[in-house]
Formats: sequence, structure tokens, C-alpha cells
Amino acid sequence: MSKVLRGDRNQCQGCKRFFNSTAAFDKHRTGEHGKDRRCMTEQEMTGKGMFLHEDGFWRGSRMTNQVWGEANE
Ligand SMILES: [Zn+2]
Repeated sequence: MSKVLRGDRNQCQGCKRFFNSTAAFDKHRTGEHGKDRRCMTEQEMTGKGMFLHEDGFWRGSRMTNQVWGEANE
């Protein structure tokens, strides 16, 4: 599946994962800037309520996903 980045969608240059929004992207980053800033593992992400949609883009939460699902396409 090709991934088209549009709107608020983005790809992390650290872990190369795709995110459906800047908020979802911010949510998967943890630690302190200039110290131990890093990407969370998938286990940590799902533990935070994040959700990998079948389109390959991570959402900040399932509720956000539903809103986006209605807004897109
Ligand atoms: Zn990342």
C-alpha cells in the first residue's frame, strides 16, 4: 500500500512509522529533549492507547481514528 502524506499526516524520521496526525506523532515520543528523547516501542504505544490502523497510519487513540475515518475519503 502506498502512503500519501497529506494534511496532518507525517512520518517519523526516527522509527520510520507513519502517523495520522501531529498529535499522534507527539504522543509516541517519550523522554526528555537532549537527554533520552526517543520513540516508544509498539508495546508502549498501544499501552498509551495508540492504535495502528489497517491503512498503516498510527492514531493517537481509537476515538480519534473514528473521527478521522469519517473525515477522510
Ligand atoms: Zn518515531
